Amino acid sequence: MEQSKQKKKSESEITMEKKNRIYRLLPRVDELMRQKKVQQMVAKEGYDRIRSLVRQSVDQLRNEITGELSRGISEKDAKEKIEQFLRSLETGFEKTKVEDLLAKEKEKAIHPVYNGTGVILHTGLGRAPLSHEIAEKLGKIAENYSSLEYDLPEGKRGNRTEYIEELLCQITGAEAALAVNNNAGAVLLALSALTKGGEVIVSRGELVEIGGKFRIPEVLELSGATLREVGTTNRTRIEDYERAVDDGTKAFLKVHASNYRIIGFTESVSAGKLKELSQKLAKEEKRIPVIEDLGSGVLVDLQEYGLGKEPTVQEEVKAGADLICFSADKLLGGAQAGLIVGKKSYVDQMRNHPLLRALRIDKFARTALEAVLKEYLDLKQAVQTVPVLQMLTCPVQELQEKAVRCCARLDQEGIPVRVQVETCVSKAGGGALPELELPSYGVSLLPEEIKVEALEERMRRLPVPVIGRVKEGRFLLDMRTFSEEGIKELEEQLAQLAEK
Ligand SMILES: *Cc1c(COP(=O)(O)O)cnc(C)c1O
Repeated sequence: MEQSKQKKKSESEITMEKKNRIYRLLPRVDELMRQKKVQQMVAKEGYDRIRSLVRQSVDQLRNEITGELSRGISEKDAKEKIEQFLRSLETGFEKTKVEDLLAKEKEKAIHPVYNGTGVILHTGLGRAPLSHEIAEKLGKIAENYSSLEYDLPEGKRGNRTEYIEELLCQITGAEAALAVNNNAGAVLLALSALTKGGEVIVSRGELVEIGGKFRIPEVLELSGATLREVGTTNRTRIEDYERAVDDGTKAFLKVHASNYRIIGFTESVSAGKLKELSQKLAKEEKRIPVIEDLGSGVLVDLQEYGLGKEPTVQEEVKAGADLICFSADKLLGGAQAGLIVGKKSYVDQMRNHPLLRALRIDKFARTALEAVLKEYLDLKQAVQTVPVLQMLTCPVQELQEKAVRCCARLDQEGIPVRVQVETCVSKAGGGALPELELPSYGVSLLPEEIKVEALEERMRRLPVPVIGRVKEGRFLLDMRTFSEEGIKELEEQLAQLAEK
């Protein structure tokens, strides 16, 4: 017992000595900064940035060696590793750790990407893309001063969102409107302004989580209201709401089932029915507004385009909802914002709430949103010009032609990739129209020399990344979301692959 303990101790002493001998061989950061390759990087990227990466690379090397020592690597191998690290920094074509770190750091920055996933509102990829015209306008607003809060005819301070509100009223027929940072903010503001300290009645079938920790019960709590659940998961009737009303009731909240469906034996109460109840209660001096979280916020009837039924904002206004909150960058196809339309007295309560200042939209969202809403003044035109609607309604025939064209351009002489046209299925995404399966066409790439996962990674790490899906061993690009520029870029990338 005593003996084995001693033996262990001496063993660890040996490793310690060995470790220290090896650690002494690790290069010093200042020495490395004088290496030719490092100097070249310094010329391009600046001294401080490269110095910090050089330090990180030495730390990384030390960690790697520590790990390997504990797994019994020989002293000789550890030395060789350090020498190799030094050699790579001196000259030669070998990629250095510092270059790796620099490349990784560059990839952390936001990049434009080509979306071949077929998911139109891909939250990871920035939801709704905007048209080229709007992008140009954004550029001008970005590099100049603008009339963001300046009334040009009067020459005095103006209102940031007034024009957006006017457009929203025109399009939806609502009395009043408001724009904030996003829909989660819109719902929070509506509940905070109207229901604080009271009870809000919600159907059990609508107590949803939207994603990103946005859960209706928690938002209610945050806004200072108490949740009063009624009905059951699958069925809620108007009597359930009526029975739950008491003196503390501040609102009926309806939440649109954006990202899921309850199917089968179901029943829910429409905003119109809730409005009837609200009007009946108004006769008893009870003022209970109907607040609706509509989620996506569609302004055109998608059913006309064969896309399934989503209630439009206009329909809900007509049905009598007092406040309707919706996202501006889901099916509406605008920039990140939360829009609210409804009765003027309630909208004014929100307008006067201190939270509004914390949730105000920035100048880029305002610019983009204003331009997109202008398209919606003519709904038929919007379907032609708003990219999200274009993609949603694009005839499958056109997608097939695009796939054939793309395939012909990518299928180049000498590339180690088999290219072919395939049918596939696109999705709306963004928690909208969860059941919708849009038949589509794509182009698949089957690499002959590398694994499909390796090809997927290579595509993802291109200067302008190409994001696709791996399906049945092939890398698939859905033409519904993949742009013409994406096709051009990929053609060039594949040509380079053929040269190698
Ligand atoms: C998406 C969604 C939200 C959140 O909207 P953001 O604009 O992403 O903040 C809230 N409620 C519903 C029902 C949604 O679908």
